[in-house]
Amino acid sequence: MELTAAAGEVWDDLVRATVERGWAGIECLSGIPGLVGATPIQNVGAYGQEVSDTVTTVRVLDTGSGRILTLDARECGFAYRDSRFRSVEPGRWVVLAVTYRLRPAGAPTVRYADVERHLEARNVASPSLADVRASVLAIRRGKSMVLDPHDPNRRSCGSFFMNPIVSAAECARVEALARDSGMPRWREPDGRVKLSAAWLIERAGFSRGEGDGLVGLSTRHTLAVVAHEGARARDVVAFATKLRARVLERFGVRLTPEPVFWGLPALE
Ligand SMILES: Cc1cc2nc3c(=O)[nH]c(=O)nc-3n(C[C@H](O)[C@H](O)[C@H](O)COP(=O)(O)OP(=O)(O)OC[C@H]3O[C@@H](n4cnc5c(N)ncnc54)[C@H](O)[C@@H]3O)c2cc1C
Repeated sequence: MELTAAAGEVWDDLVRATVERGWAGIECLSGIPGLVGATPIQNVGAYGQEVSDTVTTVRVLDTGSGRILTLDARECGFAYRDSRFRSVEPGRWVVLAVTYRLRPAGAPTVRYADVERHLEARNVASPSLADVRASVLAIRRGKSMVLDPHDPNRRSCGSFFMNPIVSAAECARVEALARDSGMPRWREPDGRVKLSAAWLIERAGFSRGEGDGLVGLSTRHTLAVVAHEGARARDVVAFATKLRARVLERFGVRLTPEPVFWGLPALE
């Protein structure tokens, strides 16, 4: 079945409503802050699902021509944390509504080790969509990855860097430099390998909670840069630049920021 949601709907309310109705397809994307209209922009993803797995069409306003169009998923140019809207023609399109293809009474996606382990710890052998949503929310809360006004790590934009995708040869080179065969990695369908940006940052010498003045790493998640009360955008950029430079120096891997920079130069 297809479900169309207006761009201004709260994303997690939509996820909750689909889970309650037994419609599978976006349950692993529980707890991601923001609105429906932003989900195709960076092809929002987490815990083994991306919206590109389910998006069939995106209704858009073309600010160039003033026309309203319906783009199919192929035309959206989805990739890992990327789309035509984000990197090819930024600013051209306003997303008005998104249509997702969901599976009524479908099985949940359990593809991610953290989720598997959490379900096991809860003694859930054959999880429902609601079980997976509950586990994802609990895992995210433990990493300060849901918006919680009482959480000292709350002032972050989520993951600051994307997980780098490298060739198999590059992966072997990084592993040799790290001298650790347990280096986390995920094989991509095209044969390349996705590395963990958080792991690279830790192995480059940073630890959770470490920071520079008002900006630092989250105490619960190495990939989140926290801007404490009073921090300025330039402080965040300066700290992120330092993280990136250290990873480049140690492993020769250039991390790409996930957030879009506004009014500030992108990281060099
Ligand atoms: C704690 C935390 C955890 C997060 N976890 C995840 C995660 O697990 N996975 C993930 O992918 N992201 C994650 N994010 C990032 C963020 O939640 C997503 O990028 C989300 O889609 C942002 O939604 P928003 O409505 O706040 O968009 P904004 O941040 O306001 O906008 C994001 C971008 O999309 C554009 N945009 C927004 N709406 C539209 C529209 N209707 N039409 C055209 N362009 C538009 C904006 O111009 C901007 O470039 C996390 C963020 C935080 C703070």
